[in-house]
Amino acid sequence: MDNVTQDTKNTVLHGTAVVPGIRYAKAVWIKPRPKLPQAGAQVDEAQREAEYERFVAAADTVAERLSSRGERAVGAASEVLNATAGLVRDRGWRKAVKKNTTAGHPADYAVVAATTKFISMFEAAGGIMAERVTDLRDIRDRTIAEIRGEDEPGLPEVEGEVVLFADDLSPADTAALDTTQFTALVTELGGPTSHTAIIARQLNVPCIVAVGSDLNKIAAGEMVLVDGSEGSIEIGADAEDAKRQVAESKALAEKVALWRGPAQTSDGHRVQLLANVQDGKAAVTAAETEAEGIGLFRTEMCFLSATSEPSVEEQAKVYTKVLEAFPDSKVVVRSLDAGSDKPVAFATLADEMNPALGVRGLRIARANEGLLIRQLDAIAKAAADLGRGEDTPTWVMAPMVATAREAKWFAGLCAERGLTAGAMIEVPAAALMADKIMPHLDFVSIGTNDLTQYAMAADRMSPQLAYLTDPWQPAVLRLIKMTCDEGKRTDTPVGVCGEAAADPLLACVLTGLGVNSLSAASTALAAVGAQLAEVDLETCVRAAEAALNAEGAIAAREAVREIIPLPQA
Ligand code: PEP
Ligand code: MG
Repeated sequence: MDNVTQDTKNTVLHGTAVVPGIRYAKAVWIKPRPKLPQAGAQVDEAQREAEYERFVAAADTVAERLSSRGERAVGAASEVLNATAGLVRDRGWRKAVKKNTTAGHPADYAVVAATTKFISMFEAAGGIMAERVTDLRDIRDRTIAEIRGEDEPGLPEVEGEVVLFADDLSPADTAALDTTQFTALVTELGGPTSHTAIIARQLNVPCIVAVGSDLNKIAAGEMVLVDGSEGSIEIGADAEDAKRQVAESKALAEKVALWRGPAQTSDGHRVQLLANVQDGKAAVTAAETEAEGIGLFRTEMCFLSATSEPSVEEQAKVYTKVLEAFPDSKVVVRSLDAGSDKPVAFATLADEMNPALGVRGLRIARANEGLLIRQLDAIAKAAADLGRGEDTPTWVMAPMVATAREAKWFAGLCAERGLTAGAMIEVPAAALMADKIMPHLDFVSIGTNDLTQYAMAADRMSPQLAYLTDPWQPAVLRLIKMTCDEGKRTDTPVGVCGEAAADPLLACVLTGLGVNSLSAASTALAAVGAQLAEVDLETCVRAAEAALNAEGAIAAREAVREIIPLPQA
């Protein structure tokens, strides 16, 4: 197995690292979900109405419990709890349950059948919708437990500090977490964009996802050493050594909290740290951090629920909100990256066999150039209305560029509107053809999420393939090197805006390869800045060489950790 290493004494499991931090505590498992009923039992006709009322009473109790937790929580946690409560109150779902009780099914089975129908619909929609399937299973299980008078599934009562283990955590469980007790989270499933990951980041609790079924070998009560930056879970660690690592990790976290930009290596080599945002709200939050600007504005995320294309004026308003948050700094706006895991109703082709390899990103605009032109007009309008000019650059980049011809066409449309044009390097062909693509552009930004998915031929949403969709894969680093080498030769700025930029150790490798800017979730930037401040450029270059020459992702990370120790607290 790729995710288990073993020596005589210790077992080490590996998953996808989501939130850094080292913790050493007893493992506890989430309380089991109720056993699902099978079809078959029939309720007398006279009792069917009462059976539905039994469901309504249980669902109302579950919804109220979630709402009152939502009132006590803050930020994303509160939003998640209220959204989950909203699902329990959803009229469509309740109507589907009613149909089933009216047909004679007992309340618990009626809930299962109704939810299964919605799960299939969400899974068929794919992408972000499919990730919400965990929410549906969660409301199903809570409601069934309530109907039967069983304990609510989810977080156990615990004493002292523990590490929480689960197959997958429901949003409601994660949102209700008391992180003084649950000091780290480890899940068998889930991905870096799952709710578990999003809330773990907000709570800043060390978190590892997608460990795989080997996680079940860890019994409740066992002491585990969890390293959220390496993505490792160790059983049998030496207690004294583990406690020392935890103390160092906590001291480091304090140091990171005190870090101030702008980012540079210990010998003064500057690396621009920028924020990834999806709307005005995230941009405002980013402006409160050390982010020097925005390196990736995912415009498609603003239109996931739009059923028709917003007008140029409407779009300009949305973009203005983001630009306003950084009135004096660089903002990189990405043109619509609709399709695949981000279905945008007015821009996505239905029923493709293989949407990740289909008509997504810039490819949509080949058959619908007007869509891209109107978006560029809206970006240009928003920038002009705010009086942004040379000192406050508004850059625009296209997703999924694969050929020089596409780059030239996009750059031409940008030039007609006075916009600075760039491209994402996220299709391996673009990295391989960087010498032909770059001459058309003012900058490029490497999207390591997709570059890894396509280089490794591994679906980025698949928890089973997380060991392949790891940007530490030397194959991916070699493509990044090709891009950086060409950037240096042609004096074209090369940024990275995929999740790789959020990994402090990998950020040193990227800097060594010649990346000029790193763009990530704004909450991740301080840890990156603090790590860069500890190393000089020559060490970054050596780290990059070691990673490029490693035989796999885990070996690359280990080789670099030998060269670059954790920052000293
Ligand atoms: C990427 O692919 O790395 C990227 C930044 O874009 P997205 O995650 O939105 O596909
Ligand atoms: Mg991408």
